[in-house]
Amino acid sequence: MAEPTFRAPKGTRDILPPESGRRRALIDAFAVQAGLGGFGEVMSPIFEDLGVFKRLGESTDVVTKEMFDFFDKGDPPQHLALRPELTASICRAYAEHRPVPPWKIWYEGPQFRYEQPQAGRYRQFSQVGVETLGADDPQADIDVIALAWRFYESLGLRQVSLLLNSLGDPSCRPAYMDALRNHLESSAAALTDQSRVTLERNPLRVLDSKRPEDQPVIDAAPLMVDYLSDDTAEHFAAVRAGLDALEIPYQISPRLVRGLDYYTRTTFEFAADALATAQNAVGGGGRYDGLVEDLGGPATPGIGFALGVDRILLACDAEDVFPGPVPTVKIFVVDVTGGSHALGVCNELRDAGIGADRSYGGRSMKAQMKVADRSGAPFAAIIGEDEVAAGEVTLRDLRGDTGQRRIPLDSLAYEVSQLLTK
Ligand code: AMP
Repeated sequence: MAEPTFRAPKGTRDILPPESGRRRALIDAFAVQAGLGGFGEVMSPIFEDLGVFKRLGESTDVVTKEMFDFFDKGDPPQHLALRPELTASICRAYAEHRPVPPWKIWYEGPQFRYEQPQAGRYRQFSQVGVETLGADDPQADIDVIALAWRFYESLGLRQVSLLLNSLGDPSCRPAYMDALRNHLESSAAALTDQSRVTLERNPLRVLDSKRPEDQPVIDAAPLMVDYLSDDTAEHFAAVRAGLDALEIPYQISPRLVRGLDYYTRTTFEFAADALATAQNAVGGGGRYDGLVEDLGGPATPGIGFALGVDRILLACDAEDVFPGPVPTVKIFVVDVTGGSHALGVCNELRDAGIGADRSYGGRSMKAQMKVADRSGAPFAAIIGEDEVAAGEVTLRDLRGDTGQRRIPLDSLAYEVSQLLTK
């Protein structure tokens, strides 16, 4: 095959059928769980003022290195960016529309980060997620985590681990940050160059390092859970008790800091144990009690998560669950008289709500049967000169072993619908 002139940009992919059908089914499955939990969908713009995303934290890679930003053609031009995640957009929408709290919403769609592509890591990737704004109650945290858990279960995934931590709040975080900074600075000689640079910007992020050389210093670092204020500790205990009551297993992960700066109190991640560690993060979230206010809205607590659709599908492959949906074409119409009969027959079947397809170009019976097989349709309707003369059609079972029989053309839709309900 000749080299194509253009290819999809680096880090992006075309998602073709049947894989696209499987993705759609996954999003539908998420929509079902979100609906059952009382969440309504928000569809927000794919790009926002860059300032919206800057609130994610000036020291996060997402903001400093990975933003797809550009100027529009206005006078003066506006500095915009493709969204790297959706929580900031949702908080911007909350500050703009001031809905009645608690505002429980879900979303799905593409996100954009200028990252180095690798297996399970793309520059355009999809997330599904929920946010609950305006509820401080730990019950809201539990509901949100339980929704993600139920969603993974509904796909058939059994090897997902929930990692849980509390990052404290503005009343107790500064004391911890001082202790952490002191520890890291006094051991700076033992850290990698990259971590020493990170330490200057945000000591918390050093805990994210996966570099083995950094591990001894990280292992000896003070833990946020030991610095929690009474309120924050109580909130964390209530979240754990709720998860216990729902029998959702979790591991306390005291060094889990997450990649974005806005998190306070509850934070969590889901790891797919069937995937290699580099790509096993299938979702994460937490509380962001200061974000709406940062974006110019009223002080509003928030909790939510985003799950990576691409990674979840990799996890489904690894566990051999959640196959694609069954083909929507139920009957393939093979017309060996030239093709014009197939037109009317397909139309009638579709009117009756039965998925029907056909070949084009007046091809041979053999060629058309090959396409029929490939379509995944369980039945074929064969129309030849004989059938036309008799006002009939040959109905053939392509999957089972009931062979074929001639039936009146005008009973085709009825017969097929009967067979499909068997
Ligand atoms: P984050 O907003 O970074 O916590 O990401 C939430 C989830 O989105 C992660 O757990 C991944 O499943 C997914 N994700 C994040 N970045 C990427 C990426 N570059 N490519 C594919 N999936 C991603």
